[in-house]
Amino acid sequence: MKEPDPINDALSTTSVVESGLFSDLNRRSFIMRNAVIGAAAVMTGQVWTSEARAQQAATEAAKKSVLPVLDSSSMSSELDVVKRAKGPVITVLDEFYKVGPGPSSSHTIGPMRITYDFYQRCSKLPADQLAQASGLKVHLFGSLSATGKGHGTERASLAGLLGKEPATVDPLFLDAMKEKPNEFYPLKLGGKTFNLSLADIVYDSAKGEFPHPNTMTCKLMAGDKVVYELEYYSPGGGFYEWKGYTSPKKGQPTYPYATMKELRGHAEKNKLSIAQVVMANELSVSGKSEADINAFLDKITNAMLATVKAGLSMNNDVLPGPIKLHSKAATVFERAQDDKYQSDKAIALVSAFALAASEENARGHLVITAPTGGSAGVMPAIVYALVNSDRKLTMDKAREGLLAGAAVGYLCKHNATLSGAEGGCQSEIGVAAAMSAAFIAQVMDSSPQVTENSAESALEHHLGMTCDPVAGYVQVPCIERCAFGAVKAWVAFLIATNEIAARHRVDLDTTIETLAETGKDMSIKYKETSEAGLAANLVLC
Ligand code: SF4
Repeated sequence: MKEPDPINDALSTTSVVESGLFSDLNRRSFIMRNAVIGAAAVMTGQVWTSEARAQQAATEAAKKSVLPVLDSSSMSSELDVVKRAKGPVITVLDEFYKVGPGPSSSHTIGPMRITYDFYQRCSKLPADQLAQASGLKVHLFGSLSATGKGHGTERASLAGLLGKEPATVDPLFLDAMKEKPNEFYPLKLGGKTFNLSLADIVYDSAKGEFPHPNTMTCKLMAGDKVVYELEYYSPGGGFYEWKGYTSPKKGQPTYPYATMKELRGHAEKNKLSIAQVVMANELSVSGKSEADINAFLDKITNAMLATVKAGLSMNNDVLPGPIKLHSKAATVFERAQDDKYQSDKAIALVSAFALAASEENARGHLVITAPTGGSAGVMPAIVYALVNSDRKLTMDKAREGLLAGAAVGYLCKHNATLSGAEGGCQSEIGVAAAMSAAFIAQVMDSSPQVTENSAESALEHHLGMTCDPVAGYVQVPCIERCAFGAVKAWVAFLIATNEIAARHRVDLDTTIETLAETGKDMSIKYKETSEAGLAANLVLC
């Protein structure tokens, strides 16, 4: 009989796994437990036969798999955003990159798009139904209720009800609402005029069983009676859907993919860049012409440049809300000019650009979801830095970068989440950094493997990051966090472009899967409820 070899036995898992003995267990969990027991055996000198160790690992892995999930914000399987997570990615660019008022894609842009949708529906109702109506009401639930005040959800919701579109609303209109909270605004629907005010937006239950953490209802009322009502959800990134929603018919992708492995496979097999694969799919899924798609991408690039420029022009103002936070993008930008060390200057400038766009978000001014409002400083900082540096990034190259960044964002949305209320800040700043790293890699003409590695590295080093906005305002930690996200994106690209690409040990799909699992396990207290972390500990005087 073979003598047990404590070191080799302890570190070997292959034979027991390959035997298929534990095929009903989580394979990764089993391998991990087996390795841990083996390592402990080496350190303590304890002798385990491989069978005994496998049995122990199987027992521990099975125990682990029955642990209760700490996620109280699980979503209804009826939601389209959940159903769409199966099959290939069919998200298109204008669903993903959206321009609208900050500070939050899920709490500001999403609700505003929702109430604008409701306004449009109401304006098409039969005249007799409208004739009965006496007013409109919006009820906010879950996270929208818990932190909506800090996000200006009530102002965005009212503006949408009044027929204002997020992409074109004048931010000064929203600022004025804040200054005159008791103002009445006339809304003409059919032959009737309603006088609406912020009191018509109701902060309803923050806790309860909702189909999605960001649920809201819009109602056309006749006194206390509901004439017409619709329940909506704002799942992040400015997306929205309603009860019974089915996604519009789209074309089939030329290169179907649901994972980065599949996407990179298409690129490598067909000798295309990641951006070229995404463009081919955009053409076939959206049915738009390449000229229209390029025009949209240029609009997004210009909006990103504009948001940074606007932020840099605001000097040391106090951002809205109880934190009384002074803006600092302009100060950091000005002081960085005199930095005698080029490396310090470069990092400070990227940080200043991210602070600038993020502070614009905090002011409730127009931002671009890439992928969300809270993370809206990250990608614009990278775009601005590349355009306004010796690299002089052209609009053509920026298009490619936005396409590659979108692919990473699509995959995170498809296989995890883009919402801080579902997955914590790793889903917002983490995804924004991963998209930005892919942007840099793509515009530097990196291979698909290096593009993936850049995105992976940026996302990996945001895993576990919680969402705890102080006082419910997207300012602390969000604004500086955008600067860190932008710098980390650059570091991720620099490592990925200088390492030997094939030796990168972690693939993007594994990191996205980890993002999803970590988000599910994260306590609800750390998911945009402002009940823990900095939000609970920072004392505002
Ligand atoms: S902490 Fe992160 S996820 Fe939460 S609101 Fe701020 S940016 Fe968004």
